[in-house]
Amino acid sequence: MEKELLLMMPGPVPIPERVRLAMSRQAINHRSAEFGAAYADCVRVLKTAFGTTNDLVVISGSGTAGMEAAIANVARDKKIACLVNGKFGERLYKISQRYGQATEIKSEWGTPLNLDALRAQLEAGAQVVTLIHNETSVGIKNPAEEVGRLCRKHDALFLMDGITSIGGDTVEADKWGVDIAITGSQKCLAAPAGLAMVSVSSRACERMTKNPPFYLDLAAYRKSASGTPMETPYTPAVPLFLALREACLLIDEEGLPARIARHQKMAKAVQAAAKEWGLSLFPKIDALHNYSSTVTAMEYPAGVKDDDMRGIVKKMGIVIAGGQDHLKGKIFRIGSMGAVSAPEILATLAATQHALKKCGYTPKGCGVGAAAEVLG
Ligand SMILES: *Cc1c(COP(=O)(O)O)cnc(C)c1O
Repeated sequence: MEKELLLMMPGPVPIPERVRLAMSRQAINHRSAEFGAAYADCVRVLKTAFGTTNDLVVISGSGTAGMEAAIANVARDKKIACLVNGKFGERLYKISQRYGQATEIKSEWGTPLNLDALRAQLEAGAQVVTLIHNETSVGIKNPAEEVGRLCRKHDALFLMDGITSIGGDTVEADKWGVDIAITGSQKCLAAPAGLAMVSVSSRACERMTKNPPFYLDLAAYRKSASGTPMETPYTPAVPLFLALREACLLIDEEGLPARIARHQKMAKAVQAAAKEWGLSLFPKIDALHNYSSTVTAMEYPAGVKDDDMRGIVKKMGIVIAGGQDHLKGKIFRIGSMGAVSAPEILATLAATQHALKKCGYTPKGCGVGAAAEVLG
């Protein structure tokens, strides 16, 4: 029998049964009260997770569609300062290059952002700033509030990718001065892949380009969402919306504070395991940066091969992530986001501990035990 793999990677994540079942029904008209009610439920819960009262729209497309929508609508032909300390920061920079005059403010992956360089860019006239709040590729949490303060001071628009923080960690888009915040369905929300959610401040609306893209025209999404029933401009991925609605209702039922506390505890448990094993966490943090609360990246000990280690973990039915680009073979990442909790974390850490041993590394102590202390 083909067994389901437990996905403990930073997206996609396991989807609760209620969410999956919501996709298995007969087609419905997307211009109907029924669809409008589902969309409204999503938006109501998502606004709390974003920490915003701004307009929020859902786009059929993965998280990257949300990133491109943000840049293409408000940053076209503008001076864009892109903060980069990992793969996804780089992606926002690449998108920015397609639409405006982008400058990369580059730090080594997994190291603190250079906020002095950001100040200099803002003083030199940067009109838009891009940030990854939780840089999934390296497991670092970047100082969104501080970046927001600098943007406000210089009247620049603040675009924040919260794709692996929103719904799993504290996000206060309005308090932090975020003009456009973005998330995706298959990360902390524990919904199927394929939807992007974007919140838009009134400041951002006032500064929209007169030359927006067609499919990703945020003004069109806002207009369709403001009617009764709520709609999208073009046919949406209806089954995914119905699943997202269930995922949002689950968030509502758990309560956002409890959900965030659960994520923080899981991340602490994985960090405790790494420490007990004698493995270094990959990010270099400082007073403004922190370890991610949704994905933990740790360095491979000398001699342990990525393919072998993760191969053994996978044989036990669990998928964890390796490093991307130049970090391939150097780090591995354990996602702890969405609907998972102690059982999944403990199984993942037990399999990882076993795999490390099989690959010739002798962990200093029992990481599984240390994690159980945190979770118990
Ligand atoms: C996963 C992820 C994305 C990209 O999302 P896709 O759904 O793969 O397009 C963007 N930013 C961050 C921080 C992510 O973790």
